[in-house]
Amino acid sequence: MTEPTFDSIFDDLIDVKEELQRFLAILDGLLPEASALLVSETDVVLDGARPLALAPPVREKLVREARASAGFVAGKADNGARCHAVYLAKLPAVLIISCAAAPEEDWRSGSALTTLLRNTIDLALHRQEREMLVADHEQSVRQINILQQQHGKLIEDNYRQYRLNQDREKEYARKLESEIAKQTAELRETNARLEEISRLKSDFLANMSHELRTPMNAIIGFSELLSETPLAEEQLDYTRTIAQSATSLLTLINDILDLAKIEAGKLELERQPFELAEVIDNVAAMFKIPAREKGVAVTCKIDGRIPKRIMGDSNRLRQILINLAGNAMKFTEQGGIDIQIAYEREAAGQIVSRFSVHDSGIGIPADRVEAIFEKFTQADGSTTRKYGGTGLGLAICLQLVELMGGRLAVESEVGKGSTFYFVIPLEEAPAEIVSLQEHKEAGREKTVSGGRILLVEDNAVNQRLASILITRQGYEVEVASDGAESLEHLRHQTFDLVLMDVQMPNMDGMEATRRIREIEADPVLRQSYVGLRTLEQPLGIIGLTAHARKEDETACYEAGMTGFLTKPIIKAKLSMILNEMMPRISCLAKKDPS
Ligand code: ADP
Repeated sequence: MTEPTFDSIFDDLIDVKEELQRFLAILDGLLPEASALLVSETDVVLDGARPLALAPPVREKLVREARASAGFVAGKADNGARCHAVYLAKLPAVLIISCAAAPEEDWRSGSALTTLLRNTIDLALHRQEREMLVADHEQSVRQINILQQQHGKLIEDNYRQYRLNQDREKEYARKLESEIAKQTAELRETNARLEEISRLKSDFLANMSHELRTPMNAIIGFSELLSETPLAEEQLDYTRTIAQSATSLLTLINDILDLAKIEAGKLELERQPFELAEVIDNVAAMFKIPAREKGVAVTCKIDGRIPKRIMGDSNRLRQILINLAGNAMKFTEQGGIDIQIAYEREAAGQIVSRFSVHDSGIGIPADRVEAIFEKFTQADGSTTRKYGGTGLGLAICLQLVELMGGRLAVESEVGKGSTFYFVIPLEEAPAEIVSLQEHKEAGREKTVSGGRILLVEDNAVNQRLASILITRQGYEVEVASDGAESLEHLRHQTFDLVLMDVQMPNMDGMEATRRIREIEADPVLRQSYVGLRTLEQPLGIIGLTAHARKEDETACYEAGMTGFLTKPIIKAKLSMILNEMMPRISCLAKKDPS
């Protein structure tokens, strides 16, 4: 059996002709002696079971008259028998019927025959109607069945489609997940590679820093020492030139390393309490001699509303100001240089302050103002020849100021001078925070001992240089070549301070410091160490390293060191730290250097 389709529902609809035929068949059954025919509204002629021959003109005439009349109209069949037509509005059609046996008068309107015939026709009409209803009903049931089947099929199809879509979606999700997992793995790998590259770069920087600073240590230190020996004027001039060139080279190395660190995002600012006035005094002191030589006045002013002690990175702030003041000094031949820190406003508990370095120097052409903040760029081509410099200073200052939350800018007029300035928030140092420096100072006052220093350093040139510098500062010095040797010295002798190189073969400075702290903490073990058993305070250990990174300094303190000194060791820096760490010693035991 072919499956029913939606369109086939209407195949079974009963047409008008069929309705008329049914009626005729019923009437034939009810009137077995009569012969009849029906003429539809469209003049289609349907014959009953017993034929009734009628010439078309007669039939047409009868039909016309019946349609116009409410009752029966009479006519004559071909065989001469009487026939009558009546219009049945219900069908609608004209029924022509012949009953040979009925006499003429019986056809009168309202006669028994016409009433009987009317009733019979009505009965036939009812039956036909009922049959049609039954047929309609059956057809509806059939249609409902078909619709149900269609519906079921539709649901089935939809469900199948839904499952198919679901499967497709699952497959798609699976593919997507695996793609994401693959890409995540690739990203992780790339990230790991980048981190590794960044680590290698950072290590490379640290090593470069070490490799470059170590010989600089020797060049600067020994030329400094050489210049203090009896020399002819020409020799002294050469020696000073070597020292100056080496210092410039070191500045350049530091600048390049700084810039590399900033660009690698490795430069972190410190947050330590410091005295702002001290930083400004330091900066001004550095330019005292050149200012006197040039006849240029240097003035400084700090607004009284700015807190004295603030939190931040004093070294980096000093570096910025030295750079700006250095430039001001370089490009000013007469007049003055003015360093000012002005109060601007208070915001979120911080004092927003304006740092400015003003000079009455050569000024900067307006069209070069932006360029000078770029790396390796100077205001004009003749600057290097005339004034020297590399064009790195301002680029570094710009970045450092940004790290401090400000923006470095300049106002300048050629021939009149320039003002470099930046506005940064300053945070007052809380009273309870005591700087590392003060810790050291507090500790140091309790130290009562001789002025003996243990220098732990593997490099022979550095050993010699540092020993001479220490001795010249008036202290006694013993040298150990690595960490293990330093422990041996402490076993048999007492020292007031250890200068401990960080990078050494055999046992490095970190390891040696950790060992010393362990021994100090062990009451039994420390008895075997003459240099440690009687100490009331932990032994002062200053880390010496060419690595000037913040993390190196932190690592030194974490290992147990009490101070940190970057190489190259120059006289001024060494003297400063020794004075800080050993003030009592310097009074008690410092020898007369002369
Ligand atoms: P450097 O001074 O080593 O060349 P900087 O980055 O510090 O590098 O300065 C870049 C340039 O900006 C200088 O070469 C100079 O042309 C100009 N400049 C900086 N400060 C001043 C100043 N105070 N007066 C005039 N020109 C200046």
